[in-house]
Amino acid sequence: MPAPPTQSIALTFEDARRTVEEHASHVAPGAEETTDLLHAASRVLAEPVTADRDIPPFPRSTRDGYAVRSADLASLPAKLTAMGEIKAGPAQVPSPLKPGGTFSIMTGAPVPQGADAVVMIEYTSLQNEGVEVTRGVSPGENIVPQGAEAKRGSLLLDHGTRLNESAIALAASVGKSHLQVFARPRVAVLTTGDEIVDLDAVPGPSQIRNSNSYSLAAQIQQAGGDAVLLPIAPDEPRRLHELIDQGLESDLLLMTGGVSMGRYDLVEQVLTEMQAEFFFTGAKIQPGKPVVFGRVSPCGSGRLACSEAPAPDSDHGSHKYFFGLPGNPVSTMVTFELFARPMLEALAGVSPRPLTFLHARLKSEIRTKPGLTRFLPAILSGQYEHSQVELVPWQGSGDIAARTRANCYIVIPPDREHILAGEWVAIMLR
Ligand code: AMP
Ligand code: MG
Repeated sequence: MPAPPTQSIALTFEDARRTVEEHASHVAPGAEETTDLLHAASRVLAEPVTADRDIPPFPRSTRDGYAVRSADLASLPAKLTAMGEIKAGPAQVPSPLKPGGTFSIMTGAPVPQGADAVVMIEYTSLQNEGVEVTRGVSPGENIVPQGAEAKRGSLLLDHGTRLNESAIALAASVGKSHLQVFARPRVAVLTTGDEIVDLDAVPGPSQIRNSNSYSLAAQIQQAGGDAVLLPIAPDEPRRLHELIDQGLESDLLLMTGGVSMGRYDLVEQVLTEMQAEFFFTGAKIQPGKPVVFGRVSPCGSGRLACSEAPAPDSDHGSHKYFFGLPGNPVSTMVTFELFARPMLEALAGVSPRPLTFLHARLKSEIRTKPGLTRFLPAILSGQYEHSQVELVPWQGSGDIAARTRANCYIVIPPDREHILAGEWVAIMLR
């Protein structure tokens, strides 16, 4: 049932986030495509990757040194008979180690049968035909057993994994030069406001250049989507309706501006006329309080004939999710991170994961009013155990320059009024 236009649904941050996550858990990612490994960074895996053989495929020495039987080093110094050299690489199967013998072995080379440890070269010296060892080793020392990292056939990467350098290395290690990944979702960006002008226009004295479409395009790109920038919508319902309709052709629609309480904040009104369903029309956060989340059927919007609309049982196609993000530029960035990102990631095929915060020590006290969860631009500085975080002075949620000086947000829970210097506080990076 579409919510009536006047009903406002203001949720706590946690409830609003959970609401998005719940909907995100039901959306289906788009089509699959093949990518070569060199272009796979940050793509989302659409197939499982398994080990084509044991990893490591042989017991691997982790040191340059001598392969030994640990029992032969019971009394030190021990004198062992040199039996040859084993290097990493050539397809040689080393002959078994005889009692009292040793092979010189290189890092990464296969440990011969009969040896149960590698003694580091630093504790050995060559003497005539023999090798003198001055330090004992425990069984297994400096050897990674065959299959210890992964057994042949075991799952290495599941679908839904976003491919970072480590996942790419793992795929390379099992010979996957090409991977099946999900297509990047298309995310429409619709900026609203009579005062907003494009970058190629010379702004009049009270006009504002459109920065939100560009910050959103950057965030969308980072989150794994492709931004589709629509023309700027005026604060006029008919044109706004037309542009929202255009936006609904993408996989997700992000609007900025027009969701506050002003007379010309028309986004909710137009969406209500389009039979949209609203899940929340505000969140108890700062910045970003007027954020809106809902879905609308392109069929219900009046643009498509109902016969053209996708089948209702296809969750992905029967309706489109939208976010109305507040127009103040920092609010737009924060609400994207908190709410739009999990939905976009779900459309991109990323397996759901909870929002996690890091913690850092507060450099200077913070006083604030209770009631809202705050995400305030801050600078994390200092190294190692000396890292600390402090708020960036700012002029409020329109202050892009202050946000740009920041490298994180301090997250203040709604019940805190006074946080002392030295306390641990939650921070959200980005
Ligand atoms: P609104 O949410 O429409 O009330 O807008 C809040 C504030 O954000 C106003 O000062 C707008 O001028 C500003 N704003 C809205 N959209 C944009 C945009 N695309 N780029 C930069 N500032 C914007
Ligand atoms: Mg506006």
